[in-house]
Amino acid sequence: MTGCPDCGEPLVIYEMDGVETDHCLACAGTWLDAGELELVVENAGVDPAPLVAALDNTPLGEKGVRRCPRCRKRMRVACLGPGDGVELDICPAGHGIWLDSGEMEDVAGAFSGGAGDAVASYFKELYPTERREG
Ligand SMILES: [Zn+2]
Ligand SMILES: [Zn+2]
Repeated sequence: MTGCPDCGEPLVIYEMDGVETDHCLACAGTWLDAGELELVVENAGVDPAPLVAALDNTPLGEKGVRRCPRCRKRMRVACLGPGDGVELDICPAGHGIWLDSGEMEDVAGAFSGGAGDAVASYFKELYPTERREG
């Protein structure tokens, strides 16, 4: 079993519209396998093309402290622009992306001209049991 890269709690698999995401109930972070970010954005009704292009063109930065739940390698930190960008943890072996709570909305908002709300509400639907207290 895989654990949360951030807090080590077991990840719970959520399935929606054919996309399986691994979600941490403790810290509300989300692991997306390669290609799933585009699918989630697309399922929320947002054009994923600008996001995909940005991901392809974003250089991986320093090694972070979190480890990929698939291969246990330390993930690399990447800042997905525009502006200061959103800091993401990406597996150097290409397994996928780790998003802290709220980062999905930030990413979607940055690339969809204000359509981040659609993705935000999609994520709320995806994780109806999410609670932030405690
Ligand atoms: Zn966690
Ligand atoms: Zn990996």
